[in-house]
Formats: sequence, structure tokens, C-alpha cells
Amino acid sequence: MNASRYERQLLLEGWGESTQNKLSQKTVFVAGAGGLGAPVIHYLAAAGIGKLRICDSDRVEISNLNRQVLYTENELDEPKARAALKRVSKLNAEIDVEALEERVDASNVNELIAGSDIVVDCLDNYASRLVLNQFAVNTGTPLVHAGVQAMYGQLTFIHTPITPCLRCLLPDKITELSPKPIVGAAAGVMGGLQAMEAIKYLTGMGTNLANEMLLWDGADMNWQVVPIHRDTDCPVCS
Ligand SMILES: [Zn+2]
Repeated sequence: MNASRYERQLLLEGWGESTQNKLSQKTVFVAGAGGLGAPVIHYLAAAGIGKLRICDSDRVEISNLNRQVLYTENELDEPKARAALKRVSKLNAEIDVEALEERVDASNVNELIAGSDIVVDCLDNYASRLVLNQFAVNTGTPLVHAGVQAMYGQLTFIHTPITPCLRCLLPDKITELSPKPIVGAAAGVMGGLQAMEAIKYLTGMGTNLANEMLLWDGADMNWQVVPIHRDTDCPVCS
């Protein structure tokens, strides 16, 4: 490990070389390499997470570039997972990066995620999110959830049975806009917070946003943290 690379985080009280070594042994599964995934992947790679598994089945499109900060016009039409791997390998050659050009579904989720220490949900639809959630509940793997739309975002740290699962929090019928309106910087805010939650969990520093949901209104610049509860009738975690 090149300690100079991590100098500024090694200065944190309680971080030190042992924490940095701990991070270098960890594997993070990043589901989605879009608006949320791009900052998550960047910051986790920069922090020296040992292994990143980047999972996305889409290709880079020009309309992605207002928010998906890992890509440039040079990567148009390339598979996102591969382009993200290329980019972060240039940022930090000390880490292992795996590009998975797949869409997470019930048939492949175990194979894709097994062995990961934490999952970061950077997806853009609830059908796939619920597949991640089911895996997280079945295996006791922590899941950092965020969603973003227009100038708003939400964030929570899921780790059942200590916390509710994602299904507990959702109404029976979900309507989603596609494509969703989004200000690129809003995805940057929420993705940055997701990276923070993953880094805190993996280093054991700070506390995670468990049993609470952060609601961010970027239009009026308000932050609210509200308690969330398990649904005792939840079909997934109860
Ligand atoms: Zn539940």
C-alpha cells in the first residue's frame, strides 16, 4: 500500500494503517453505475476499497453525461461497467475492479453478489431494488439505499433484522417516472452520502443511518431525518 495516496484519510483520528489495511480486504458490490453509482464508485476506489464489483447492463448515452461523472464523450456507447472499470483503474491501480455487464435479477443475484461485504443500491427502479433487498435480507448483508429525483433525495442504511428492509418502506403499488427528471448535482449529493455510509460501515467509524431515513430537499435546501419502522406484515423480512 502506498501510504501517501491515503495520507489525508490516515490523518483521521482512529483511521490509521490498520483501518486502511482493513479496507483493502473488503469487497463492495455497486448495483448500477449511473448517476448515484458514478460518485459511489469514484469515492470507494479513491478510498482504497480492496475490491469493487461494478454491475450495470447499460451503455453510456449522451443523455447520461449531465450526472454520470465517470464518463466522457469518449465513452459513448461503451458498456458502463467496463467504462467505469477503465476509469477507476486509472484513479487507483492498487485495487481490484470487476465489471459485471448484467442486470441484477432473481436468477443471478446470488452469483453476482455472494462474498461482498456490503451492497450499494444505485439502481433506478424498484423491481431490481427489491431483488437486492431480498438478497440482503436472506444473507444479512448490509444494503445502502438511496434514491434521487429532480432536486430531491432519500437515503437509509438497511441491515435486517436490526433495521426495516426496503420492502417494509414501500407502498404496495409503486409508480415510477421513466425517464425521471434529475439535476446531476443532486445525484452527486446522494451518491456521496452513500459512499460515506459504506466507508463508515467498513471502517467501523461513525454510525450508520439505521432505522432512519434522510430526506433531502435540494430545492429549498432542507434535510430531515425521520424514524422508519419494520412492517410486521412485511412479506420479505417478517
Ligand atoms: Zn421488510
